[in-house]
Amino acid sequence: MMIPLDYHLHTCYSEDGDDTLETMCRRAIALDIPEIGLTEHWDVGPYEQNPRFFQPEPWYAELERLRHLFSGKLTIRAGIEIAEPHLYQQPAAEVLRRAPFDYVLGSVHFVGPNFMFDEDYFLTHSADEVYQAYFAEVERMLQTADINILAHLDLPARTAKPIFGYDPVRYEDQIRRILNVVIDRNLALEVNASGLRKAAQNLMPDRLILKWYAEMGGERLTLGSDAHAASQVGLHLDTAIEAVRLAGLSHITRFEHRNEHIVSL
Ligand SMILES: [Zn+2]
Ligand SMILES: [Zn+2]
Repeated sequence: MMIPLDYHLHTCYSEDGDDTLETMCRRAIALDIPEIGLTEHWDVGPYEQNPRFFQPEPWYAELERLRHLFSGKLTIRAGIEIAEPHLYQQPAAEVLRRAPFDYVLGSVHFVGPNFMFDEDYFLTHSADEVYQAYFAEVERMLQTADINILAHLDLPARTAKPIFGYDPVRYEDQIRRILNVVIDRNLALEVNASGLRKAAQNLMPDRLILKWYAEMGGERLTLGSDAHAASQVGLHLDTAIEAVRLAGLSHITRFEHRNEHIVSL
């Protein structure tokens, strides 16, 4: 299956990324993926281990070198993944001035002090407490943050589903409000395949949420492996595309200079 793009990739410019930009690009070319977006973490919150790790200037210089090197073979977008951008609007605006980004992924990794990958948090709270608090934070983010794409909706389920399950129907009102804001603000919804590498085996968002989004008239989607190593580039995006088609969606959104282009899948 042809994978048109992978818009969620981390390199060694992210504290948890393993490989160089060039290695990630070469892997995409080997897989015949024509377009990628490099999206390093911009984490500035008080509970981050390594705040402000990302250095946009040398990263962007390297990205430009690779654009020339792989010209005609690979389109490389300059993306960024900003954690809780609604809570840290000044540092978010500051990083966006430091390079000409093509798009911004908005992510909720923390709800208050609680980290959405932390098993101990899930072991000591109920499913309703966890998911309701997470969706409320996503909704707050969407109302004010300067972003293009909502990243990995359902994130806590990636770790918590094996612990206490995940039933999106219980949170349907909250989730539909989120989808409404995505549609009203012309944002794109990311289909993130990283959960398929985990025990949870969950697509983010859940397939049912993709159906709700299609029913509600949503049509802006991107695909992301959320790779933190070259071996994960494009991984499971074929499954993500199948789920998108099954939900009745048939387009994908590309970004350049923060403008969108909707193309058929
Ligand atoms: Zn993330
Ligand atoms: Zn990420």
